[in-house]
Amino acid sequence: MTGDKTRQTYDAIVIGSGIGGLCAAAMLARYGKRVVVCESHSVAGGAAHEFVRDGFRFDSGPSFYCGLSDRTSLNPLRQVLDAIGETVEAIAYDPLGHYHFPDRSVPIYGNAERYRAELAKITPSGATEFAEFERAMLRMYAGLKDVPSIALRSDWQAIPLLFSRYAIGMLKLLPSIADVDKSVGRIADRYIRDPWVRRLLDIECFLLSGLKAHGTIAPEVAFMLGERDRSVIDYPIGGSGAIVDALVRGLENGVGCCGCDRR
Ligand SMILES: Cc1cc2nc3c(=O)[nH]c(=O)nc-3n(C[C@H](O)[C@H](O)[C@H](O)COP(=O)(O)OP(=O)(O)OC[C@H]3O[C@@H](n4cnc5c(N)ncnc54)[C@H](O)[C@@H]3O)c2cc1C
Repeated sequence: MTGDKTRQTYDAIVIGSGIGGLCAAAMLARYGKRVVVCESHSVAGGAAHEFVRDGFRFDSGPSFYCGLSDRTSLNPLRQVLDAIGETVEAIAYDPLGHYHFPDRSVPIYGNAERYRAELAKITPSGATEFAEFERAMLRMYAGLKDVPSIALRSDWQAIPLLFSRYAIGMLKLLPSIADVDKSVGRIADRYIRDPWVRRLLDIECFLLSGLKAHGTIAPEVAFMLGERDRSVIDYPIGGSGAIVDALVRGLENGVGCCGCDRR
């Protein structure tokens, strides 16, 4: 923080200018709170900051995004950008990329049918097992998508509130309720024996959470499979720095400030 900013008073101080801190701060500023973001690094963005070398801009972290260019997307980041009146232009593409294994490379489509068709070329029985697993995941997604993530809390009082406000989503979620706190690996144990499909699921989970299937929570994968198919995979023009810029702009257009450079 520099200059006058240190002498001002604030309603909220956010420690850390990662995507999480910037979203929280921008939303607070959007609703009229005086907020300052303190960052120990010289640039904003945390794991998603960008850096420039020899005129080229690099993402330091995330490169896979979903739903930035889709108004109906349930991506919470997209919802925050909408709330603060910011947009980030993004270009949709599919496949997401190719996963390279020692024996083959596989295109990974967001579109569920094409994803399964690629699997079936490698292991028809594995693709059938995966389809069963996917059905269980999409059942969970059907409930989750009707309950805004912003409404979720970990205290028991949230349960009557969720049923009173989001009854349909909660009813759809009931068949999967016992699985929402389980790892996706435990759910996959019920459906998938094929070692090749298990390896693929581990890689998908690793890219999502940094852990294999047994360390990744089921709702995260349910959401990934559901949104990847229903919405779009896309990439922001300007990279992750463009998202950071938009959040900092939203923050500063409210009554907040970020105590570091935008980049
Ligand atoms: C290599 C890599 C690839 C990734 N790929 C993807 C992807 O493709 N898609 C995707 O969706 N996600 C991806 N992620 C995950 C995503 O980047 C992170 O989940 C997200 O950016 C985390 O944001 P955050 O605000 O929670 O935390 P962080 O980004 O870690 O932000 C925390 C901030 O707080 C600051 N801080 C900490 N302590 C203090 C302190 N005491 N005082 C002041 N400041 C402090 C830190 O400097 C940092 O800027 C990837 C992450 C990495 C590292």
